[in-house]
Amino acid sequence: MAGEVALIGSSGAEWVHFDVMDGCFVPGISFGPKMVEDLRPHSSLLFDVHLMVQNPFNFIDLFAQVGADYITFHVEAAIHSHRIVQAIHGKGKKAGISMVPSTPVSFIEPLLPFVDLILVMTVNPGYGGQPIITECLEKVRDLGRLRKEGRGDFLISVDGGINESTASSAREAGVDIMVAGSAFFAAPDKEALVGRLKGLR
Ligand code: ZN
Repeated sequence: MAGEVALIGSSGAEWVHFDVMDGCFVPGISFGPKMVEDLRPHSSLLFDVHLMVQNPFNFIDLFAQVGADYITFHVEAAIHSHRIVQAIHGKGKKAGISMVPSTPVSFIEPLLPFVDLILVMTVNPGYGGQPIITECLEKVRDLGRLRKEGRGDFLISVDGGINESTASSAREAGVDIMVAGSAFFAAPDKEALVGRLKGLR
């Protein structure tokens, strides 16, 4: 895993995104804070931890301690989302919220002024390698509009099905950050892929 993280570093990608799955909020199980802790010394990139877990409040301290820079949780898995955002900020970390494809932007509107990042899921979370649900990019446009209206100062990220053929529509929708998993690790030339995802080549 340290070797894979080094590849991310040399590719021109700027963040390392960790998909934490608990087998409960999502069907898959991935890893917990130990993975983040063990990889922290191997990278100076921003560590972006995406909690796909039930009861995310219980995991904030753990992931803050092991070196996460951004901690993003699902609003569908939380009752007191605002309190969780406060807890993340209380640990000196950036707070992100994420939404599955069936959650509308209106559901998270009250949180917009308080968060640093909004992660729009463009697949149903739980597995890698799924095709993008392009309709979800409409939410990116809506969020961009709300940000322009002064409703918050957050980054907009997309996660799921991002590859060379889908990246341009994500960029056109106005994303700030694209998360690529399967496409990145399958690419023989990772630097070239990252450049193409960014629209630089
Ligand atoms: Zn993710």
